[in-house]
Amino acid sequence: MQLTELYREVILDHNRQPRNYGRLDPHDAEAKGHNPLCGDQLTLTLRSEGNRIADLRFEGNGCAISMASASMMTEAVKGQERPAVDTLFQRVHALLTDPAAGSEGLGKLASLSGVREFPARVKCASLCWHTLNAALAQVDATLADAALANAGLAARDANPTVSTE
Ligand code: ZN
Repeated sequence: MQLTELYREVILDHNRQPRNYGRLDPHDAEAKGHNPLCGDQLTLTLRSEGNRIADLRFEGNGCAISMASASMMTEAVKGQERPAVDTLFQRVHALLTDPAAGSEGLGKLASLSGVREFPARVKCASLCWHTLNAALAQVDATLADAALANAGLAARDANPTVSTE
């Protein structure tokens, strides 16, 4: 079997039977992605545990590449810590755009390298990763708010002041 044929099989398989499909409830973040060039739409729900993506799911409509890419992404990042997720994102982005990029150790995600022969489809494959980043930014914003609230509370406790104005 040719390598490209194998890649096609992986993409078709994930499109037919998407993994981690649906909504995660409760979740810490929800992000929507839309690729107007192709009409791909997806919604990602995610639960984080400290620095780790504890669980995530996606649902949506779109072409085979967008759905397969999202399915493979959820498998690849579930349970992973953030630095590893960032590295994966960079490697997948390189794989989709740079013919010199290697695919060692990327597992099924390597099948996305076939997409770079079709530049119009790169956005289909990367949509889920951008949506994931948006969801993670949401988690960060929530954590930052909580930290600020804690700091505010701590400051009040340490140095109680009453305004007389
Ligand atoms: Zn698409």
